[in-house]
Amino acid sequence: MSASQLLAHSSSINVTVLEPKDTHYYQPAWTLVGAGTYDYKQTAKPMSEVMPKGVNWVKDYAVSFDPENNQVHTEKSGALSYDYLIVAPGLVMEPSMIEGLSEALDKGQVCSNYTNPEHTWELLQKFKGGNAIFTQPTTPIKCGGAPQKIAYLAADYIRKHGLQNKSNVVFATPGSVIFGVPEIKKTLMEVIDQYGIHFKPLFAPVKIDGDNKVVHFKYMAPEGDMPAFEEGNALGIKVIGEKLIEMPFDFMHLAPPQAAPKFIRESPLANAGGWLDVDHHSLQHNSYSNIFGLGDVAALPTAKTGAAIRKQVPIVLDNIKRMMANKKADNTSYNGYSSCPLVTGYGKMVLAEFDYDNNFTPDPKLKQMLVFDSSKEHWRLWMLKKYMLPYLYWNKMLKGINV
Ligand SMILES: Cc1cc2nc3c(=O)[nH]c(=O)nc-3n(C[C@H](O)[C@H](O)[C@H](O)COP(=O)(O)OP(=O)(O)OC[C@H]3O[C@@H](n4cnc5c(N)ncnc54)[C@H](O)[C@@H]3O)c2cc1C
Repeated sequence: MSASQLLAHSSSINVTVLEPKDTHYYQPAWTLVGAGTYDYKQTAKPMSEVMPKGVNWVKDYAVSFDPENNQVHTEKSGALSYDYLIVAPGLVMEPSMIEGLSEALDKGQVCSNYTNPEHTWELLQKFKGGNAIFTQPTTPIKCGGAPQKIAYLAADYIRKHGLQNKSNVVFATPGSVIFGVPEIKKTLMEVIDQYGIHFKPLFAPVKIDGDNKVVHFKYMAPEGDMPAFEEGNALGIKVIGEKLIEMPFDFMHLAPPQAAPKFIRESPLANAGGWLDVDHHSLQHNSYSNIFGLGDVAALPTAKTGAAIRKQVPIVLDNIKRMMANKKADNTSYNGYSSCPLVTGYGKMVLAEFDYDNNFTPDPKLKQMLVFDSSKEHWRLWMLKKYMLPYLYWNKMLKGINV
């Protein structure tokens, strides 16, 4: 999107994209793939098709930065020099941060839409009752709502297949609330009630024993006792230590722990947490003025989504254009906008749009779609998620058109 916009601004700008992969994925649809309602193949396109015409595509990995000399070092192509640099390599999965998770994923004992959504769908169809557990880690993750979206779709699947009387759907999260935006939280708590989902706030997964199908959760409240669990409780929860429980599972989906890529973490561009150290409002690097960052890698206190990137790119571009015109990069108008299309069942969705302060900021254009309150479930929002957003992504956003 940035490269397309730069080329559209002036054909005299030399734009290089350093990108090693052959395929680009529309990841937001992986939630639907995991629930069997979207074809995985439709989420992929050859990189050559999405690469804007006119860029210099260097098909290689960035391995380190030399910001004092305005250079990026690559694996095979030597050093690339730049006047302005946009850093956007996304994030990486770090399953090793939860004991037993790598093995359980490798053996197919647990599933994740983040790594293999088709496998989620396979396991969901094999589920015939028992505990279906959905959870997420304590690290930042992309699309913070994705772990609960698949829980709602699975709960709907379980109900539609007459399995609800012999199933327990559990959603366990290290967070204290289901969603930070009050209007969205209210609807989601109603959704949880309607499905009879066992909502377990403040529980973080710390160990998975895939062979025995057991997960360990740590209770995250710094003060106060863990809730009591009666002997023989319906979920089979056992207290196994101080603020530590184990829960058996018949199906388990989770978001793996996530981190900035190693070459970012170990670079002079990272903050103390390892994320790209950019200004929250201008997206300019805090130490190197000709470097900007956006997307999942950026140390921004908002949800890591494609929707956020849609609003970040125009600000980065505006600031770079200002600098090219010998002005300051003083567009500080990024307000943390992000959005999370929370599918709450097959054919229903709530659209959370919000800023750094968790204000609910619905797009006025939704009214043209006859959606007057996007904090409530609506079938038209499902149509937006399944059909319109993929279309806008491939045909507008990647082509540099602001939507
Ligand atoms: C299951 C799931 C559901 C989601 N749902 C939604 C949703 O509903 N709505 C939404 O808006 N977002 C959603 N997202 C999040 C969204 O997909 C991401 O926020 C977005 O793709 C991030 O874009 P990015 O460009 O920062 O990173 P990426 O899309 O990960 O792209 C990073 C690129 O950098 C390249 N790269 C990596 N390392 C290097 C290197 N060393 N050198 C050069 N290039 C490198 C990669 O090959 C890749 O092409 C979801 C994600 C998942 C996984």
